[in-house]
Amino acid sequence: MVKAVKPIRSLSRRVSKGIGMTSTRTRKRLVERLAAEGIHNPQVLQAIDMVPRHLFVDEALASRAYEDVALPIGYGQTISQPFVVALMTQALLEDSTPERVLEIGTGCGYQTAILACLVDEVFSIERIQELFQQARNRLYDIGLRNVKLHHGDGFLGWAEHAPYDAILAAAAPQHIPQTLLDQLAVGGRMILPVGERNQQKLLKIIRTEEGYEQQELETVRFVPLVEGTT
Ligand code: SAH
Repeated sequence: MVKAVKPIRSLSRRVSKGIGMTSTRTRKRLVERLAAEGIHNPQVLQAIDMVPRHLFVDEALASRAYEDVALPIGYGQTISQPFVVALMTQALLEDSTPERVLEIGTGCGYQTAILACLVDEVFSIERIQELFQQARNRLYDIGLRNVKLHHGDGFLGWAEHAPYDAILAAAAPQHIPQTLLDQLAVGGRMILPVGERNQQKLLKIIRTEEGYEQQELETVRFVPLVEGTT
């Protein structure tokens, strides 16, 4: 049975009808590939189909934007592999659709854009000033207005807007930060990689009335969550 797809937030006309068009076919191929690899949430696939990933990387790498690979975005960081973005987003939406989501590690803003298509409000923190500014301009240009970005240290979360229905981290701490657990709403969930470089586990943590439940999803490789800002 085909599940009805709830309409998702759309991007500005300029993106959906203009610059985005040049990549429509290659993007569809990426969506088919992700579906074949186990991404089954139709809304997540629709968001990947809609967000022009080539606008989030350097022009010199734009032709590789729809390969299922991580790519450099400068400052020693990478844009996450589309499969990993899709998998984390799918895990985040699994039980119900969260309304307010905190993201740690905006990077180029691609994962932020995917989330912004699917939930009411996205709050995202980036520690590198230049990446923060670039992401802010990009997300504004593609017409996403339900995103608030913050240049700061994700270890501290963003207390001002807490609690969050969901938290997603795109960089790996060695231990689960207590501050982020505290900023999660009861009934909320957090998806984050945890562990040393090269041996991280992607965890799903659910906050219940009684405490926290933890599940291991995958073995993954993310850049480390680094304290402080630059
Ligand atoms: N989803 C992003 C992933 C970027 S890589 C994308 O697709 O572009 C992870 C990002 O986390 C990097 O930009 C890095 O600078 C950032 N980061 C690392 N430690 C951080 C911290 N303590 N607070 C906020 N951001 C952090």
